[in-house]
Amino acid sequence: MSFLNPEDQKIFKFFEENNIAKFRLKQIHDWIFSKYVKTFDEMTNLGLDLREKLKKNFHLYSLKLKTIQESKDEQTKKYLFELKDGSLIESVLILSETRKTLCISSQVGCIVKCTFCASGKNGFFRNLEVFEILEQIVLVSNDIQDRLTNIVFMGMGEPLLNLDNVLSSIDIMSSDKGFNISKRKISISTVGIVEGIEKLKEKNYQINLCLSLHAPDDSIRRQIIPYAKKYKLEDILKSLQDYFLVTKRDIAFEYILIENVNDDIDHAKKLYELIKNFQCSINLIPYNPIPNLNYKRPSHQRILAFKSFLEKMNLNVTQRYTKGDDISAACGQLAIKQNF
Ligand code: SF4
Repeated sequence: MSFLNPEDQKIFKFFEENNIAKFRLKQIHDWIFSKYVKTFDEMTNLGLDLREKLKKNFHLYSLKLKTIQESKDEQTKKYLFELKDGSLIESVLILSETRKTLCISSQVGCIVKCTFCASGKNGFFRNLEVFEILEQIVLVSNDIQDRLTNIVFMGMGEPLLNLDNVLSSIDIMSSDKGFNISKRKISISTVGIVEGIEKLKEKNYQINLCLSLHAPDDSIRRQIIPYAKKYKLEDILKSLQDYFLVTKRDIAFEYILIENVNDDIDHAKKLYELIKNFQCSINLIPYNPIPNLNYKRPSHQRILAFKSFLEKMNLNVTQRYTKGDDISAACGQLAIKQNF
């Protein structure tokens, strides 16, 4: 049982059976969702007896914070968590003047196995439970003693392959009984799981949807995203167009620039043709080097040429400023050797 589900019927039942007044549950949720406490002992407006009863019957959180690494510029922090079964996940906090964004994991490992990404290297272990997704938010908020403003599902795992749990966690993140973070401040990044995109469309979730595109055609894409063999780009893009028609949310495309793989001007031209009819933005991410991989980050001139071409074609282009690469917290660098 987890207190992170404000509607958990089993907890209601426990309170009823133990004659605990309902308003106590509201107080507990307030301590968790607004004050991010780590123990029942910190819930000082609950009587001692009740705190003891709760300690005896519940574990407040299942995740154990193992390490925190901070980048030199103090703008990025990487958190390593151990789950109950001994497996490990990471979350990354990215600070800017206006935002406190947490990049969270949705699975242990990843089946997609992008060849440029450290997370995919060790294979897939399991989906995260709803409470395991949410505890990343509470424990990081506890560390910074502040409210997070944005959540991105861009850590370890493919969120659309754990969609039911991801959507339930978003319901709690965005609920005023939960973290009260607007759905518009929550982003899901996917390699393009067509059934998942269709389900998101049906549910008309007002979140931000990002496609990890990374290549201007199926052939290059399948080399660097092996799982992409399951879906044609044409079908993925069609499902995104349908998603836009229903939700009216712009699509964000992400494109990791890797030297001599996908960073020529010809690639930029093909990319433009692919996405020119979308209401969208494109985020260019210069590749973050990973030990033992032969990929390289393109030179500054090549990145600039690629970006300038897309800008000339009037696309809305951003280049992600690489944060946290000194602690391997930048995109694609999350890598963990599991304990088992
Ligand atoms: S980039 Fe994302 S989808 Fe690809 S292997 Fe890494 S975690 Fe999985």
